[in-house]
Amino acid sequence: MVLDFLTLSIVILLNAFTMAIVWGLIWWTYRGFGAARIWMLACLTTALGGLVLSLESLAKVPTNVIGNGVIFFGFCLYWVGVRQFYGDRRPWLESIVITVAAIAVLIVFSTIYPSNAARNAVYAVGQSIPLAFAILDLTRPGRRSPGSLLAAVAMAIAILVHGVETVANFAFSTGGIGQLHYDTIETVVILLVIFSGVVWNFGMIVMAIDHLRAELAVLTYRDELTGIANRRLLLERLSAVESRSRREGRPFAVLMVDIDNFKTINDDHGHAAGDACLRHVADIVSATLRPSDLVARPGGDEFCILLSDTNASEAAGIAAELVATFRERPVAWGARTIALTLSIGVAESSAAHPRTGRELVELADRALYAAKRDGRDGYALAA
Ligand code: GH3
Ligand code: MG
Repeated sequence: MVLDFLTLSIVILLNAFTMAIVWGLIWWTYRGFGAARIWMLACLTTALGGLVLSLESLAKVPTNVIGNGVIFFGFCLYWVGVRQFYGDRRPWLESIVITVAAIAVLIVFSTIYPSNAARNAVYAVGQSIPLAFAILDLTRPGRRSPGSLLAAVAMAIAILVHGVETVANFAFSTGGIGQLHYDTIETVVILLVIFSGVVWNFGMIVMAIDHLRAELAVLTYRDELTGIANRRLLLERLSAVESRSRREGRPFAVLMVDIDNFKTINDDHGHAAGDACLRHVADIVSATLRPSDLVARPGGDEFCILLSDTNASEAAGIAAELVATFRERPVAWGARTIALTLSIGVAESSAAHPRTGRELVELADRALYAAKRDGRDGYALAA
């Protein structure tokens, strides 16, 4: 099977243009998602390169050099987009250096030392370098996701195929393989590079979906002021912990925490200072707990702590520790410090007295008001 050069250039162009439309629509819909804009530019740039290459009949060397130069830069843009996606520094300078260097070498092998095989090796290397860097960024520990792995594997296939193409070119130039075999290999190689390009774009679309889903989860489950869990996440985790503890016969506990005289803090220092106090409490409590525990802000100056695998006396120990900690750690507010104390209600669900999550929250709430009645700055256990 042999496809002529013009047909292949048109396939590259149409394919890249289609992907550009997809990225353009994603960017249009989610304006804050900058990587989509760069990946759209990568597709448009590659499409432009394909367009220039398809004009080969007009002037072979200039269209070849310009077309491939534009494609080199388009491939670099994929890498820039990957960096943007992960919030890393965008490698604009490296992209320009790779593109200019590849174009310079291409000009040498097109004019001073004309060699088809060497020129093809330059296409391969010029496209593979940015892809190799993108693979390194996509596969760093902690980043591996189905989308990033799909994109990385597709890019690796493109590099491999470029390697095969380079070998085929040198084999052809030294008479190792005939014209028909060479043309067939070249056609298959270009089709595989186009195909892998589609696949890595799909990988990136999966990455984009994951990213937007994670953003949505933050909006759905996080308290905007403090960044900790909100009531919705608390209720979901409560029922999960409740069913696990029932299944395994393990205890769990809930602490209801409320800042003492918070209205006075707002009145004396202003609402912004009150907000800083809420963040201070969220930060310290989060840092004190185990990763398996959860601290939520259901609303106002009230926090709810969910302790899995914890009985009443352990929970009381944690409550006592928190009360003591906040006595010693006032909030820094400009030049001032704001003293802050907590009252905490503690409730437990045990194998002997199993309770639902909601019952536990109610019990802890009642215990909290007992702690308030007892003079605040302390904790009380639910009866
Ligand atoms: P107590 O010791 O009995 O808890 O007294 P309190 O003054 O803390 O009373 P309460 O817990 O009822 O006060 C809650 C106050 O929290 C009332 C409200 O103005 C304030 N508040 C609620 N949400 C926010 C917020 O997001 N930011 C700030 N700065 N204040 C808030
Ligand atoms: Mg309060």
